[in-house]
Amino acid sequence: MPELPEVEVVRRGLEAHVLDRPVRAVDVLHPRPVRRHLPGPDDFAARLTGRTFTAARRRGKYLWLPLDTGDALLGHLGMSGQLLVQPSDAVDERHLRVRFRLGPAGARPPVDLRFVDQRMFGGLSFSPEGAELPGELIHIARDPLDPEFDDDAFVRRVRRSASGIKRILLDQSRVSGVGNIYADEALWLARLHGERRGDRLSRAEVQRVLDAARRVMTAALGQGGTSFDALYVNVNGQSGYFDRSLEVYGRDGLPCSRCGTPIRRVSFMNRSSFFCPTCQPAPRVRRTGT
Ligand SMILES: [Zn+2]
Repeated sequence: MPELPEVEVVRRGLEAHVLDRPVRAVDVLHPRPVRRHLPGPDDFAARLTGRTFTAARRRGKYLWLPLDTGDALLGHLGMSGQLLVQPSDAVDERHLRVRFRLGPAGARPPVDLRFVDQRMFGGLSFSPEGAELPGELIHIARDPLDPEFDDDAFVRRVRRSASGIKRILLDQSRVSGVGNIYADEALWLARLHGERRGDRLSRAEVQRVLDAARRVMTAALGQGGTSFDALYVNVNGQSGYFDRSLEVYGRDGLPCSRCGTPIRRVSFMNRSSFFCPTCQPAPRVRRTGT
């Protein structure tokens, strides 16, 4: 599943390759990825044809391409989505769902922007007046790599919450873009167990986990993102390889690189959490008196 660094890699690729090109045609090859556009696939195509993408923006794992009209094309990669920029004569991908035929940009030849998605949990939609920030994203918090992310406000909110810190990290209304892999990696780096309650963490501990999240996400960005299930490839079709640098995620039974204790895996919200039981001691169970 693409996490924030992968989505940021895609955003940068889109910024480099699709801006200022006229959308000549839109082919919706499967209706499901545009299911949120209630007037239907034909209307979706009509609203985008003839327009131009003017920027490539991101909040958390959502991407949007503002249009010259002030509207936007909004996208989410879901579990297995890819946005590929391909030569316009490239062979169709097996799971190609939506194709935008884009005209030339200066001397650069026409290309396709292709939405390829095997499992189709992701999708595209047309966001009226969404150029600055699509209305669909107002409830999504900024991510830790966003220059306008407010550390102090985040620390205060965490310390008022009775939820476990990992659950808080995954809550897109408090901080976006930190998925399961990076939450586990950040908690390992910060030496905190994911079940530690927000209201029992010190200010310094919360800041430590935030800084750790930034470190692992920045490192992943430098390497083109993580490719864990081989379904994810970036805008040029190349897999990331940050998984070679993972310290805990997917490493159950292997020794912690800091202390040698075998990494442990536990189930968490229908997924898994990986941690070092020595570096990240579980919180003591306290009896609640009342
Ligand atoms: Zn350890």
